[in-house]
This record gives sequence, C-alpha cells and structure tokens, in this order.
Amino acid sequence: ANQPDIQAHTVSSVCPYCGVGCQVELHVSNNQVLEVTGKAGPANQGRLCIKGRYGFDYIHHPQRLTTPLIRKSQAPKHAHPLLPAERWMDEFRPATWDEALQLAADRLTAIKRRQGAQSLAGFGSAKCTNEEAYLFQKLVRTGFGSNNVDHCTRLCHASSVSALLEGVGSGAVSNPVRDVAQAEVILVIGANPSVNHPVGASWIKNAVKQGATLIVADPRRTDLARHARHVLQFKPDTDVLLLNAMLHVIVQENLVDHTFIADRVEGFDELAAHVNAYSPERVAPLCGIPADLVRTVARTYARAKSSMILWGMGISQHVHGTDNARCLIALAMITGQIGRPGTGLHPLRGQNNVQGASDAGLIPMMYPDYQRVDHPDARAKFETLWNTRLDPKPGLTVVEVMQACLQGQVQGMYIVGENPAMSDPDVQHARDALAALDCLIVQDIFLTETASLADIVLPATAFYEKTGTVTNTDRLVQMGRKAVDPPGEAKPDWWIIQALAQRMGLPWRYPHEAAVFDEMRHAMHSLENITWDQLEQQGSQVYPCNAAHPLGQSVVFTDQFPTATGKARLVPAHFNHAGELPDADYPFVLITGRQLEHWHTGSMTRRSAVLDELEPQPYACLNPEDLRMLDVAVGQRIEILSRRGQVQLPVRADAGNPRGTVFIPFCYHEAAANVLTNPQLDPVGKIPEFKFCAIAVHKFPG
Ligand code: SF4
Repeated sequence: ANQPDIQAHTVSSVCPYCGVGCQVELHVSNNQVLEVTGKAGPANQGRLCIKGRYGFDYIHHPQRLTTPLIRKSQAPKHAHPLLPAERWMDEFRPATWDEALQLAADRLTAIKRRQGAQSLAGFGSAKCTNEEAYLFQKLVRTGFGSNNVDHCTRLCHASSVSALLEGVGSGAVSNPVRDVAQAEVILVIGANPSVNHPVGASWIKNAVKQGATLIVADPRRTDLARHARHVLQFKPDTDVLLLNAMLHVIVQENLVDHTFIADRVEGFDELAAHVNAYSPERVAPLCGIPADLVRTVARTYARAKSSMILWGMGISQHVHGTDNARCLIALAMITGQIGRPGTGLHPLRGQNNVQGASDAGLIPMMYPDYQRVDHPDARAKFETLWNTRLDPKPGLTVVEVMQACLQGQVQGMYIVGENPAMSDPDVQHARDALAALDCLIVQDIFLTETASLADIVLPATAFYEKTGTVTNTDRLVQMGRKAVDPPGEAKPDWWIIQALAQRMGLPWRYPHEAAVFDEMRHAMHSLENITWDQLEQQGSQVYPCNAAHPLGQSVVFTDQFPTATGKARLVPAHFNHAGELPDADYPFVLITGRQLEHWHTGSMTRRSAVLDELEPQPYACLNPEDLRMLDVAVGQRIEILSRRGQVQLPVRADAGNPRGTVFIPFCYHEAAANVLTNPQLDPVGKIPEFKFCAIAVHKFPG
C-alpha cells in the first residue's frame, strides 16, 4: 500500500472543512496531493473558498502521528498545555498497534468492571465519515454499555436541533443553501457565512444580484451586511426580544398565513397571546433597533412569496439558544414560509460531517436517525439489530462528561478527532478534567492539545487518506475518496474503532467501509434507498431517500411534518438574559468565533502553509472607539480577564464590532479564547454560551 505512485492523476472527494460540502478534485502525484480544484458538485458547482483550495498540505506535515504512542510511566500529565502540543512528544514512547490496542481495551474493560458502564465515555468526530461515526456510537453503546457518547454538535447546533425536533420533528435543514436563488427574501441571522461558509455566502450574494432582498441580523456587522437591504445590528443577548417583536408585528398586522396555520400548525393562539407583550416600541431600546425597522423587516419577511431563514452559532451558542431557534421556527410557521423552494429553515452546519455524525447517532439521547434511547420501541429495534441489551438512560453531554471526570464518575475516555482541551468552554476546567482521567485514549492525526493529555495515542488517517461518506448541511450524502496513503502506520478511524471493539469482546467483522454503510441503511429509514454503489457512481444523493421518496427529497415538509400529528408545534420563547452579564468588574462582553483562514481549533489549518502565512497569530478585535477609550493602539497588547482565566493579545480595530464587545477567534493555543468562556448551558440543548460572557479589558503594561 505504501508503494510510491509516480503517476499523476486526479481523485474526486469532498472538502474536509465546513458543512457546505464542496466537491473537490485532488491532483495527486507520487503519493502527494499537489493541488486542489473545485468540482461541479451540487453544493459548489466548481467553487471553493481559500480553505478548500489551499488548506490541504497539513496531511503531509512532518508532525503527523505515524505510530501508536503510550505515555511513559514516569511522565505526569500537564493540564496546562500552553506550549504547542507536539512539544509533549517526549512524554510518550512508540508502541505497536497490538500493544496499544490491547492496553486500551484492557484499561477500559478494567474501569468498567471496577466502576460500572457509566464510568466510560466517548467523544466521536464530525471530521470522520458517517461509517466511522456509526461504528463509534455503536462501540460506546454496545461495548462501553452506556449512552455517554457525544461530539462537537453539542458545541455548535445542539440547541437548533432541539428546537427543530420539538417544533417540526426533524433536526436537519428544510431546504438546501442554493435555494436562496429562488427566495424573494433571505434572512441571515447570527451567522457570518462569508467567513464560515464562504461558498454558501457566494450563493447568497448571487441571489441578491438577481434581485433577492437580503436582511442581515447580527450584533457584529459582518461582510455580508454590505450586500443587505436591511441590517439589524442588535445588542448581544437580545435575540429573543427582537424575534418576538417581529412575531408581534406579523400577528398584530394580520400578516399570518391562516390557511397554513389551520392545516399544519399547533399552538398559534398561545404564541399570539405570548408575543402580544413584545411590541417593537417596547423592545427597541433594549435591542438597539428602531421600532420602524423591526416593523419593516417583519413585513418584508412575511409578505414575500418566498422567504428563507439561514442561521449560525450566533443563534445557537447561547443559554437561550433553543429559545432563539424556537422564534425562527415560529416566524416560518405562522407565515407559511416553509415546504416550498426558496423558503424554509436552514441552520448552517459547521463541520464537514456534523450533520452526518448527528444522523449516525453520535448523540447521548439518540440512536441513529434521531430515535430516542428512552423510547422502548426504538431501543427494542436497536437491541435486535445489534443483538445486545442497551442502556435505556440518555447519556452525558460534552460539558457534563467533563464535570463527571472531575468528580471521578467518568474515569475512562476514548476521544476520536476532537480537541476539547481547546474547544470546550472554561477550557482550563476541561484540561483538568482530562488530566484527572484514569485512562484517556485519543485518536487523531496530530498530537493535539487533547492528545498531549492522553495515556494512549492512536494515529489516524486524514480525510484525503480514506474512503467514506459524509453528509453536508443540505442533507446531501457524498462520497469522499482516498487519494493518498497515510504516513507510517496510521490507520483509518473505522479500522481502529473496529480493532478496539474486537479486543473489548465485540463480534465485529466489517470487511470494509461499504459493509458499515449497508448496516446503516437498515438502521436509518432516511438512508434506506441509498446504496454505496450509487454513491460511488453519482458522488452524492440527498436524503430522505426511502420508499416514500425513492429519488431523495431536497425540499422537505411539503405537505406534512414528521411529528406525531403531522403538524408543526409552536413553542413560545420567554426572554432570559445571558448566563453572565457585564458588571463593574467585568464591563465588556466577549464574543468568540472563527476566522476565514482557520478552522476550529486550528490543528489542520495552522499546519497549512498558505493559511498559516496569512493568519499566523492570535488577536482580539475591538471597536475603534473602545480602543481610544482604553488608550490602546492597533497592534498593542491588551490583557483580557474573565472570572475563569486571562489571556494577552494584540488588538485589531474593527468598526463592525459593537462598542463594549471583544471578538476573539478560538483557534490559537497560544492565547486560547476558551480560557475565558462561560460553561453555563442552555437547559434544553445543553450547549455552552460561547457568544456571551463578561470580561475585563486592560492595556497590557509590557
Ligand atoms: Fe470547503 Fe466550506 Fe470552503 Fe467549500 S466553503 S471549500 S466546503 S471550507
């Protein structure tokens, strides 16, 4: 397999970064990817952003893990990895696959015998394929014996999914991004697609050029606002007030779709009574948006022939994230703006396979296809399919697992392709939790900040080194194809998960990825009619694709909702403040997020030469007026403190940042933004509040 391939050729695959799911053509020679170009996939039609085009050389980086590693017995775990993680390499010794896998299985099994099934937990990855996500949750449920399995959806759209499942019976989007071409009005709220979903943003900009009316609502003035007819730069934390005021206008001015409501919606009277209290005049001073503008925008959205809503983590990453999404669902339902091309609800999914990983069951309360673990029928189905008894209790979520680690309730963890030592809120707390584990097994392509705390490290393949399916934000299942061999002894994640499962006594015999996908089709009604062969030939297929929709259904909810009654359910949202408000000691608000050149915790893009050259260093963005007030010049350092930690960063001026706020990208280990963030959770979606916490800002004396 490691024979050099001197023949130049191309391989079709999918970009490994965001949920847009652009198809790519990989230009390969001598087992090296030399160039990436855009392919005419359904989501991108040949387009790529800077990450997809230039962010590929991390796969050939010299810091790739090439052999299993075992922590040296005398090496203590450092819960303060302020240095780049690879500096910790000396604390490990190389091992054979046999030794590392057997040790991992023995230690997990011993913890389970000693402390019970609930003492083990696993974080899967939205960077792995659908087949790998499915196998991972199956290992935790049938091998570990609990539902303590989660992944990064908990940190991005868990609240959106909770609200969508509750309201319309499905956690996925109703319409693909490219449907914006058929929308008369596009509302983008709490999202910065020019940075986070750039090719998706290009479709929105094209739609505006063709005459669509764009409304952008966000506390930060983003690039997309330049293309908008109406910009609502509302005060952070006031989303529910603003959206309830829009609902108020639509109800009071009788802009509702009575026929749609009568036929397809439950709970309208309660919602109408609830939003009565939220007049635009009342909320205007709180939101910072003039009442007239709220009225104009509500009318524009409701009166259009087709209006589509797209949202991101500005909506979801709040303690009121579920309430924010409930309001958006209500907007679409009471105006009948759903079930047709150019309408609907689209939570822009973050990672390239966060949709697929969620669908495949990497969720503590759901089996594959969102079948609840505490529903007897669903449990019976999976007990039959997997031939074992299953835990009827929902498991712990990402942040709850960390708490359980510190309390000694969880003592063994298996983490694949996630980096909670960088991505969790109050990250020092998460690092302490990981360091406290009796056994931490980390499977990744680099020695990440999380892997530096591991007992056993398993080297995995990068996306372009394996074959498997991924599902984009549009519910499009796409085939990713292997283009190059992995370095050294690195193995595909599905191979490693199966090898560990076998050593823990599970009778798994999957000969290849296609066999796993075939089992998924039997477990998941949504994928029933999709075959591996079909994906190999076509490259992609939208779901649901089953007996009811044999060719797949791109726009869903056309005649009913997949709820018990077939109707959507409106849930009024009460206004609640953020978990931690500014005060005299911490008078600023921290907003964290991503930047165009870097992806999440930076483990891939910061090892991609072009991207790292463009954005090599951490920084904080402040409004120029705030910089003047603090007497800080652009490029000077500031000290930022929250109740949980402090970082020092050079500043940039950004007039799009509202006064009193600081924006920090969270990808830099040198000054990890999540040292500052608040771990308080949305009570329903259990998502932390990455978009709002109280901080103090001082000019750094150095
Ligand atoms: Fe990749 Fe997303 Fe950029 Fe497309 S828009 S190239 S999927 S990062």
